[in-house]
Amino acid sequence: MDTVTLRANAKINLGLDVLRRRPDGYHEVKMVMQTVGISDRLTFVRTADPGILIRTDREELPCGEGNLIWKAVRRMQERYGIGGGVQVRLEKQIPIAAGMAGGSADAAAAIHAVDALYELGLKLEEKQALGVKIGADVPYCLMGGTALAEGIGEALTPLPMPPAASLVVTKPALSVSTKFVYENLHADRLTVHPDIDGVVSCIRSGDLAGMAARLSNVLETVTAKRYPVIEERKAFLKAHGALAALMSGSGPTVFGIFESEETAREAYECLRAEAVSDEVFLTGFSA
Ligand code: ATP
Repeated sequence: MDTVTLRANAKINLGLDVLRRRPDGYHEVKMVMQTVGISDRLTFVRTADPGILIRTDREELPCGEGNLIWKAVRRMQERYGIGGGVQVRLEKQIPIAAGMAGGSADAAAAIHAVDALYELGLKLEEKQALGVKIGADVPYCLMGGTALAEGIGEALTPLPMPPAASLVVTKPALSVSTKFVYENLHADRLTVHPDIDGVVSCIRSGDLAGMAARLSNVLETVTAKRYPVIEERKAFLKAHGALAALMSGSGPTVFGIFESEETAREAYECLRAEAVSDEVFLTGFSA
């Protein structure tokens, strides 16, 4: 096989708690990850030359070793003694620095692609062991779907998909660094913790309303405090019929969950007209 084209999907968090900061600086988390229908398209071509050539339609992204795709391919080359390289074309749809794990999703796609192009026949667990060295969300992105993520995000328990719902996802025109958010979170001072176990049991029992009622993300205490637009977007989505609205990851992306597709579409159209500088999507949960 010489060419592989893959979709790398974004995730949202249907709950995000931070339990503590570990002595090594990592945070111990407990979060519910959910793949959504927003995706990058990546085409990988196998080359005899060992170089890693990345082209993308987003000029703000690094094309060299700063790109997580580059890091993933290089690690695969080193780990499996691969003599050849790849050319990569990245068409980006996932908002950047948004709390949707776009870079990690691309890194996961690169691992799958190199495995296929070089016929390595790797098991998911082997890919995840390599992926966690690139980023804590990469093991989840390699798997996708619905999952409870614990540890630094790499200890995964697959869950059933929540009942079908429509989502309006919006990324205000500002970039939030994940590092900034975690540095400004005082995990030991958090007095309120999300009911992640409750979210998980509602997902298991197919209770969309119960799940929506428990949506909570402790990182909002940092990002939403700094950027009032987060609460504005949540309020907008709720006022337009969302069962619940929440910030994803470290933000600034906000999503609303709707039972009715028609209501979601109306909210989507209104938001596009009102928040013209946002990146706005109408989508759903994805496997
Ligand atoms: P997370 O939810 O995992 O915190 P994020 O959505 O906040 O991720 P990303 O979009 O993954 O953030 O990217 C954060 C930074 O990583 C960007 O500023 C970008 O420069 C860099 N980056 C490197 N490779 C990529 C890539 N393939 N796609 C997007 N960003 C990338």
